[in-house]
Amino acid sequence: MSRTNWLADPLSRGSFSYAAVGATPEHRAALGQAVDARVFFAGEATAADEPGTVQGARTSGLLAASQVQDVAASGERITVVGAGIAGISAARQLVDAGFSVVVIEARDRIGGRIDTVSGDWPFPIERGPSFVHRTSDNFLDDELTALGVALLPFVRIPEVRTRAGAVVEVSPLGAQAIAGALDWAADQQQDVSIERALVDSGEASLSKTPNAEGLSDADWLEYEIATKLKVETGATPSQQSAWYATDIASADDDQIVVGGFSTLLTADAEGLELLLSSVVNRVAHDDRGVSLRLGTGESLSADRVIVTVPLGVLKNAAMEFSPALPFSHRGAIAALGMGVVDKVWLRFDEPFWDTAARLWTIVGEDADFPVWVNMMPLTGEPILMGMIAAENATRLSELDDDEFLSAALASLEPFLAVPDAG
Ligand SMILES: Cc1cc2nc3c(=O)[nH]c(=O)nc-3n(C[C@H](O)[C@H](O)[C@H](O)COP(=O)(O)OP(=O)(O)OC[C@H]3O[C@@H](n4cnc5c(N)ncnc54)[C@H](O)[C@@H]3O)c2cc1C
Repeated sequence: MSRTNWLADPLSRGSFSYAAVGATPEHRAALGQAVDARVFFAGEATAADEPGTVQGARTSGLLAASQVQDVAASGERITVVGAGIAGISAARQLVDAGFSVVVIEARDRIGGRIDTVSGDWPFPIERGPSFVHRTSDNFLDDELTALGVALLPFVRIPEVRTRAGAVVEVSPLGAQAIAGALDWAADQQQDVSIERALVDSGEASLSKTPNAEGLSDADWLEYEIATKLKVETGATPSQQSAWYATDIASADDDQIVVGGFSTLLTADAEGLELLLSSVVNRVAHDDRGVSLRLGTGESLSADRVIVTVPLGVLKNAAMEFSPALPFSHRGAIAALGMGVVDKVWLRFDEPFWDTAARLWTIVGEDADFPVWVNMMPLTGEPILMGMIAAENATRLSELDDDEFLSAALASLEPFLAVPDAG
């Protein structure tokens, strides 16, 4: 088993940003504003398009690098804090443009939330992102393929089982209720949470009477919330904005990376001056330049800095800014939400299941592990990847490994193969 705990990770404090109630795209833009042309910001939370993704983070890094290029004299010394995809992309662009760049990273590796583990696994597993969602601006799939990284098409059509193990058809009722609630919210004077929109619009008043399979209409709303809303954002419907609800990815154009996402960074990181295992805990600037204080007490000076630390780190005030950040930045940091999605990878000697479905979900209860990906049909290996989100992830993160594993295995019971009669 390999499990993550992104909330407890002091260098992330959550998995990715989401639109909390009251947060707007302008908050992301405000967070991405440079301060006095000295302190620049990048990272997925600042991305105008596709925040919360690898693609969004990379675009934000390239944008910050361009902003630096617009104001910096040639040969200036630029420091980049954070060696995730945003930081590495920014640093690459600046080095190629002739600047002298140092990347400072607190971890002992590059990649940040892109966290590929090889070791004992038959193929590299991803503790952070796995999926690439192709859009008109996002060709990461082509890039990964060109780098020799294996990806496989991943159609998000789930096999849905009841707790008793019966395979059932997905009912559209849950998705319809959420769509109805969001439409209702769009006409309101003020943003409300998705939960509030569901209740106040009347869309949540679905029948609780079970049918022959023991499932009610209300179960399908819970299903939609558990398997989509929470997993896509890492937040509960009571935390999420109804105005800026995350677009739930369409079903048919995702790919899953099985050949190591971190390879995406290798080429860009080549030849960069990297200071690993170095925590930056203070960023000070004046009109002559910036000064960074490291956890070791050492100081480093540069002409400008690009800060790419995750929103969770900024929310936690783990990094001090001097002078304090402008109100617009502090307002954005407070308004945007940091969601929690954790992953668990389980490797078995043999499959205990007999379904070839790639995506498994469970209806009829508030499942702790609402979504499982079956890697067997994808890779030939009896390996499952589970996803846990929002308050379930927070609660389960407190379990020790034995308790956690028991909970994971219990959640998989509906998928146990039924022994042949006779
Ligand atoms: C479980 C999970 C699943 C995900 N699934 C997907 C997916 O399927 N598809 C997708 O596109 N995206 C997914 N994402 C989101 C994606 O991983 C992120 O949006 C992206 O990797 C963020 O890149 P970044 O450069 O903005 O931040 P990061 O990668 O977090 O980089 C920031 C860096 O700053 C460093 N740092 C922090 N504090 C300090 C400090 N004080 N001093 C120095 N360095 C510091 C960190 O160690 C880190 O390396 C997922 C994320 C998680 C956690």
